[in-house]
Order: sequence, then C-alpha cells, then structure tokens
Amino acid sequence: MFSQEDVGAKKRNRQRKKIDVKMDSKGKHALVIIDAQLDFMPGGALAVQEGDQIVPFINALQADFQTIIATQDWHPENHGSFAANHDGKSPGEWIELEGLQQVLWPVHCVQGSPGADFHPELDRSRWMRIFQKGQNPGVDSYSGFFDNNQVVDTGLHAYLQSLGVTELTCVGLAADYCVKFTVLDALRLGYQVHVPAAGTRAVNLQEGDFERALAEMQQAGATIQ
Ligand SMILES: [Zn+2]
Repeated sequence: MFSQEDVGAKKRNRQRKKIDVKMDSKGKHALVIIDAQLDFMPGGALAVQEGDQIVPFINALQADFQTIIATQDWHPENHGSFAANHDGKSPGEWIELEGLQQVLWPVHCVQGSPGADFHPELDRSRWMRIFQKGQNPGVDSYSGFFDNNQVVDTGLHAYLQSLGVTELTCVGLAADYCVKFTVLDALRLGYQVHVPAAGTRAVNLQEGDFERALAEMQQAGATIQ
C-alpha cells in the first residue's frame, strides 16, 4: 500500500512528465549521458584516461536538449564482474560468468559509494531520469538498455518510447564498453544515433580500442561526429 505521500509524489511525477512532453519541441531527440561517474574518471577505481575532460563538453551540449537522460553503473559489492570476487583473478582476465564471457574489472561503482556518484561538475539540473544498471551480481550490464545477457531490461527503451523519442545523442564513459553497447542496442531498437567523439573516452584495454569502438558504432549505423 502506498502512503499519501507516495501517491502525491507519483501524481506530481505524472504531471511533470506530461508537461515535459507537451512543451518539449525537441523531445524527439534525447541526450543520453552514460556512466559519467567518479570511478570512471582520473583517480577513480576504473579510471578512463581524460574521462573528466568530457564533462565541460557534456555540460555545453545539454543546452541543445530538452530531453536528457542518464545511466549509472550501480553494482552490489558481490558483483561477478569484480576480479576481487574471484580467487586468484586479476582485472583484465576473463572468466565465464553464468554462461557469458566476462572480462574482470577492479571493484567500481558500488551502490552508494562515492565512486558511484556522478562527476560533481556535471550539470544535473535538467536530467529527467537516471537509469541504473548492473545490480544483478550474476551478469554485467554495459548497455543502458539491457543486461549483457539481453534478458533484463532497464526500462530505458519504454521510457524513451513514452516520450516519443526516436533519435539519441550518446555521450559518456566508456566509449569501448558502456557507450558502445548502449549505442548498438539503441540502433537495434530502431533509434537514429549520434555519437560526438568529443563526448566520450575509452578504457583502451588494448591500444586502438577507442578507434575500433567508434568504427563499430559507425558500421552499425551511428553517426560519429
Ligand atoms: Zn560496471
């Protein structure tokens, strides 16, 4: 049962959503900010080189959008993608995790930890919703749409559909993992997708992964700007 407060909040949310759609002349084209979190920034647990340099770019880009959505990597401590949760394994090694090949990562973006927070200079004032992913310890979730097994849906697609969004600009971290897999899923789901290269950086486990990721997204139908 909902308390009166919950019901009130739900009503307000519904009203806010309606107003956004109505007033949103650019609503069909949304900005999706992927995992712009401290653990992926220099100094973080899974630092992406120059990851923080995308923050001013994204802040400026937000001015062009009415519909802004973010994703947030949000793992429990016992997540299977963490090398520390597998005896004798190190980050960068591969294991089989519930039937899927999984590269192991340092412990990162643990729910509620400071590293799971967004970069403090990132303007969040007009974000409409944050979709969290990676909560299931048995499967990783690079894409903002689905877990890596393509079974669990974050709800992002249904939300974008409810707003009438057909076109996405995707930015964030990292180009060779969460941005790439979000973009590939978006293309499969029928969205027109743009990726401004200045709005993303790569982990680069292998040299050239950034360029390869951009090429893969482009081949799949994304516009790389
Ligand atoms: Zn993760």
